[in-house]
Amino acid sequence: MEDCIFCKIVNGEIPSEKVYEDDKVLAFKDINPEAPVHVVIIPKKHISSINEVTAEDELLLGHIFTVAKEIAAKLGVSENGYRVVSNCGKDAGQTVPHIHFHMLAGRVLGWPPC
Ligand code: AMP
Ligand code: ZN
Repeated sequence: MEDCIFCKIVNGEIPSEKVYEDDKVLAFKDINPEAPVHVVIIPKKHISSINEVTAEDELLLGHIFTVAKEIAAKLGVSENGYRVVSNCGKDAGQTVPHIHFHMLAGRVLGWPPC
């Protein structure tokens, strides 16, 4: 997807502060952090949102949660806790149409998010 900013981060056209990378997944620090730890975890494959997920993406999306666990450990937030959330569509506030998972941690997080 040539106009997708997260695809541009994947292919190096836009810089990012990477915290994890493998052949299928990339995670980088959010440019506008909402918590002391705010990491964006994305599949390298362009999927616009949860609405576009198909059965063939199941292994990939499961892998993202294994990666999330590793990132939490690496950043030292496993014990105190963290939130992993994906916004889908306008009412949820999705601004980048490439599926992504926010990892938020480092402070007490309110629930529900408003
Ligand atoms: P959402 O609003 O759920 O679609 O989340 C998109 C997130 O991407 C926001 O938290 C933005 O701050 C973040 N973001 C947008 N552009 C960049 C970028 N170039 N580098 C890092 N994070 C970004
Ligand atoms: Zn993309």
